[in-house]
Amino acid sequence: MQNAQRAIKHYRKKRILICLAVALLSLLTTLAVRFISQRSQNQHQLQIAAVHAVEAIDKVLLPLEKRHAELLQLVGQPCATVNLILRKEAATLQTLRSIALVKSGTLYCSSVLGDRNVVIHDIVSELPSDSPQLLLFTDNTLIKGHPLLLQWYPADNDAGSGVLMSVNIDLLSALMLEPQKPLINSISLTVKDRFLSEESGVMAMLNVPHSDQVFSLPSTHFPFTVNLISPGTTELALKSLPAQLPLALIISLLLAGIAWLTTASRMSFSWELNMGVASREFDVWCQPLLTASDQQCVGVEILLRWDNPRLGPIPPDVFIPLAEEHHLIETLTRYVISETVRQIDVFPKSPLFHVGFNVAASHFIDGKLLRDLNQYWFSAHPHQQLIVELTERDDIHDVDYRLIRELHRKGIKLAIDDFGTGNSSFSWLEKLHPDVLKIDKSFTHAIGTDAVNSTVTDIIIALGQRLNIELVAEGVETQEQAQYLIWHGVHILQGYLYARPMPLSALPQWLAEYRPRLPSQHDGHLSPSGRDIEDYSSSSS
Ligand code: C2E
Ligand code: CA
Ligand code: CA
Repeated sequence: MQNAQRAIKHYRKKRILICLAVALLSLLTTLAVRFISQRSQNQHQLQIAAVHAVEAIDKVLLPLEKRHAELLQLVGQPCATVNLILRKEAATLQTLRSIALVKSGTLYCSSVLGDRNVVIHDIVSELPSDSPQLLLFTDNTLIKGHPLLLQWYPADNDAGSGVLMSVNIDLLSALMLEPQKPLINSISLTVKDRFLSEESGVMAMLNVPHSDQVFSLPSTHFPFTVNLISPGTTELALKSLPAQLPLALIISLLLAGIAWLTTASRMSFSWELNMGVASREFDVWCQPLLTASDQQCVGVEILLRWDNPRLGPIPPDVFIPLAEEHHLIETLTRYVISETVRQIDVFPKSPLFHVGFNVAASHFIDGKLLRDLNQYWFSAHPHQQLIVELTERDDIHDVDYRLIRELHRKGIKLAIDDFGTGNSSFSWLEKLHPDVLKIDKSFTHAIGTDAVNSTVTDIIIALGQRLNIELVAEGVETQEQAQYLIWHGVHILQGYLYARPMPLSALPQWLAEYRPRLPSQHDGHLSPSGRDIEDYSSSSS
């Protein structure tokens, strides 16, 4: 049974490992999915924030663009004439701080200060310019140090003349460049080679902390770019993972639970057994039985073999008790009978040749065995004598005695297997009326070595003779055991001394080659043939 325990432990270990793997995999998958979706959500939010900032600044500049043609017509007119118009315009365009007219390089009229006479180049080195210019500028005139966004429109055909509008970007930046923490640490505006941020004003360089990343979006209308400074979509998604852990754990526990339940049937010995039957991994073998008197082969015992491709060969002593435990023994027995019938031609076609099946006690309940024998054995009309071996170690009290009577009526012989090892009583023997008692191999092995057990052997033999039950001795391995059993009147012998179990297909050759050595041929002793011990030794259990 140690092997069986090992096989079951192996399954349990495998099942636990599978469930752990499922739990780990689903935990990692959930976290990965949450990470990827959080990252793309971050990217989407960054994109939206950048588009909003660009649109906000575009909205400030677009009205200036619309009005610039009319304003340019005022260039050259006296300040006294146009000053009021300039003021009205500046008041209408609410984001404007001032509008100034420049004629031949001189700023001569301002909506705020009225008449002026300032060389424009002295204030803004890039002006006058013959192309429109957007400039970031730090005010040194009105409110010192304040950032201004200057929009210059040159007059056609009049070099050095134009309109200069200054946007009070300082006030606007608080709204337009407001960061959305934690996704955006700061927002800055780039115009040419200058940068404006809400905290630092106009700068020649953009200060980006090492750990941060810059996400830039240029305006499609005006020459400026909005820069979002962010800790990074990946970093933020990673930071959000601990918050996702409880959900991921719940999902992985749930899936591990489902895996545990679904593997219950697959990862078990009963699944292996079912699989073995379905995939025809079981082989039907047989072991010859010989008459003690003339060493003729008078029958076989059918024995099951399982060469499991996943676990290796499993001896019947391991899988038969497990099949009984998992209520699969009857399925196996049906398989054994039908496989034997399929190969029935390997046996001599004689009613004197018997075929013995091992049948579990549970199969003797409710007429099940008889139904199965009718379906799988008698339906093929075999010539051979059928014997069913019921092991005495099983709980034979459950056996249905009416079924036993039915078996007898149908001419099926009943053998009590492993006789002497269980807890049989005489009343029980009377009820069952067995045709055969199979002396367990432990008693055969005790012959000549174990005084107590060989006494039991004598008692069993005497009992069989007294009740007129045929005696079969199992496990005959030596000449000494064979002689002892023959002398004491055992009728049939089975053991490695004559033949080891062999595949059914090997029986015809064994039968053809088998030559009994009769006692008369051998120095006056009853001495069974010693051949065949080696024949199937390599393939036996
Ligand atoms: P069992 O019915 O007592 O079968 C005889 C066992 O003794 C077989 O072991 C056989 O290989 C072994 N044996 C035969 N001659 C000798 C010998 O000279 N010396 C020794 N040491 N052993 C010998 P196996 O095939 O391993 O089967 C073990 C048990 O498994 C069987 O004991 C039987 O109880 C069970 N079994 C095997 N096939 C079936 C089956 O188809 N159905 C059921 N229900 N049980 C089966
Ligand atoms: Ca048996
Ligand atoms: Ca036995």
